[in-house]
Amino acid sequence: MAIERTLSIIKPDATRRNLTGRINAKFEDAGLRIIAQKRIHLTKAQAGQFYAVHAERPFYDELCTFMASEPVVVQVLEGESAIAKNREVMGATNPADAAEGTIRKDFALSVGENSVHGSDAPETASVEIAFFFSGLELVG
Ligand code: ADP
Ligand code: MG
Repeated sequence: MAIERTLSIIKPDATRRNLTGRINAKFEDAGLRIIAQKRIHLTKAQAGQFYAVHAERPFYDELCTFMASEPVVVQVLEGESAIAKNREVMGATNPADAAEGTIRKDFALSVGENSVHGSDAPETASVEIAFFFSGLELVG
């Protein structure tokens, strides 16, 4: 077990419905610390760059349009096995498959508008954190 950092995004469907605090409470209740956080409005090009790994998927354009539609909250979560723990707290990509008590079960609207993003591995976590935050913004 090691202390890790992971990149989280509270997506436009959730910021629009004023759910930032309720989602953050789920992270904190699970022992994840929000060590950096800011609210930004991505351009579609920035969203496309962030999700470049999905460029060939049929939902890519829809995903980028959605992510640029309204502000998002980008954040760094820290804790024991933070990457896997955050994925657990988030729940399955499709809210229809998400476990009880997870963010996506409680708040997601659809497989696309599913309220949160979370890094899926240590390599993607460090790249995704560096996409949004400088070292000076990560004070622990
Ligand atoms: P996760 O966010 O759980 O890691 P993926 O990395 O597979 O899921 O997909 C990235 C995001 O793309 C999802 O969170 C969701 O917003 C969107 N997405 C995934 N699958 C679909 C789909 N079938 N239709 C529309 N949007 C999708
Ligand atoms: Mg993913």
